[in-house]
Amino acid sequence: MGRKQESLNWHARAATVALRTEAFIDGRYRPAISGETFECVNPATGKSLTQVASCAAADVDLAVAGARRAFEAGHWSRMAPAARKKVLLRFSELIREHRDELALTETLDMGKPITDSLNIDIPAAARSIAWFAEAIDKVYDQIAPTQHDALALVTREPAGVVGAIVPWNFPLLMASWKLGPALATGNSVVLKPSEKSPLTALRVAELGIEAGLPAGVLNVVPGFGHTAGEALALHMDVDCVAFTGSTRIGKRMLEYSGRSNMKRVWLECGGKSPNVVMADVADLERAANAAAAGIFFNQGEMCSAASRLVVHESIRDAMLEKIVQIGRAMAPGDPLDPATRLGAIVDRTQLDTVLGFIESGRRGGARLRSGGQRVREETGGYFVEPTVFDGVTMDMKIAREEIFGPVLSTITFKDVDEAVRIANDVSYGLAAAVWSRDITTAHRVAKALRAGTVYVNCYDGDDITVPFGGFKQSGNGRDKSLHAMDKYTELKTTWIDLS
Ligand code: NAD
Ligand code: MN
Repeated sequence: MGRKQESLNWHARAATVALRTEAFIDGRYRPAISGETFECVNPATGKSLTQVASCAAADVDLAVAGARRAFEAGHWSRMAPAARKKVLLRFSELIREHRDELALTETLDMGKPITDSLNIDIPAAARSIAWFAEAIDKVYDQIAPTQHDALALVTREPAGVVGAIVPWNFPLLMASWKLGPALATGNSVVLKPSEKSPLTALRVAELGIEAGLPAGVLNVVPGFGHTAGEALALHMDVDCVAFTGSTRIGKRMLEYSGRSNMKRVWLECGGKSPNVVMADVADLERAANAAAAGIFFNQGEMCSAASRLVVHESIRDAMLEKIVQIGRAMAPGDPLDPATRLGAIVDRTQLDTVLGFIESGRRGGARLRSGGQRVREETGGYFVEPTVFDGVTMDMKIAREEIFGPVLSTITFKDVDEAVRIANDVSYGLAAAVWSRDITTAHRVAKALRAGTVYVNCYDGDDITVPFGGFKQSGNGRDKSLHAMDKYTELKTTWIDLS
């Protein structure tokens, strides 16, 4: 099938795809109690896709009550791990079976290329659920090395009702990084997707029921942050909030917890990750490719985006020449065209934010090497060219703040110490990379970088087996890997007197 025909195909399917638009509470869809809805916009056209239930405190109350009832009933929370595994594996399988529909929905809702939704987002979401399902009947609790006449069990119990609040850049995948470990460990979940991308979460909720999740174990409350999100984070009967989003809102989660019931708060927040390229980088071409992919992939809407290129002054020009070339070849296109590698920015507000940062870079004295413009305006959509700034210094806004768009800030250094200083000189600490052919330099820099993930001679190492999360104001706790299960469980000591 030709390329043109393939994208025609996706457009044809887009016209008929069934979208779920109501909240999912206690095993069924229902409108918001207020009857209110909000508009869901396709960022590739600027046109309305549909109206979605706008949940507020009353809906959240209902969802939390359902989640609590399900938790107390124990059909899920006390189910044998091997049985929970079976349900979750089926859930994962159903997500896979609905890959085309979910990928299409994701692309329509938030503008990423259909090729990425199909090959990355949806399979990775299914994988997250399956991986934790497979793990859950293989983890053991502990017996403590106490005195002889005692037996102390150290066990993990589900936290209870988990509120999951997630962003729009990988809507279903970020939700699945929470759902996998939270459900596997026996919790009930109330999921609040972003108001910018609620549709895939709403659809998979019923797949969960179809897979065998008892009603009330997985609820989805679409709505705004200041309504549904705040109500969930302030709720007295929510035991734990797992949040992925901006650092600004992450800090509020800590306040909400303090003002309510001291619920556990797990934060996966923003980043301004440095990609440090030493003069002795082994393969400049590869490093340039990774640097470009690291900032342009997903329209730059990546928490771990390689948004600061920290490069030795002697190779800056060679690196930038290649990155600019790659950027030009990645011009934004129709997200439903399978050949498109860069899609639309999620909405008008985010578009304005990105363009505002570009303007601030220009005014602040950085050199614009390529891009910088809104493009494809005639489509009604929100597209920005891959943009590369050179001559950036650490006093500039574009060096310190998260842009969340396809905008690269290049900063040069003269020696290793300066490189590390620049790399660590932001409030974030999500990811970082170092490129060097010298094993000692690579290890020394990797140790010195204050980040939850450090890449060496790559910028994309990723697997569900490794923890992902931030140092500093990029958050706390970790998604993925067995460590993620710690967030959704409480440690219990049971001391048995044997004397
Ligand atoms: P955001 O903080 O604006 O929103 C995130 C979620 O919080 C949304 O569901 C939103 O509705 C909700 N929310 C907003 N205000 C709220 C409030 N007052 N109370 C309760 N909930 C509220 O972030 P965003 O723009 O959706 O996502 C982009 C951000 O997410 C970036 O900063 C990015 O770095 C971060 N992110 C981090 C990771 C990670 O793993 N560390 C992954 C993806 C995205
Ligand atoms: Mn949308």
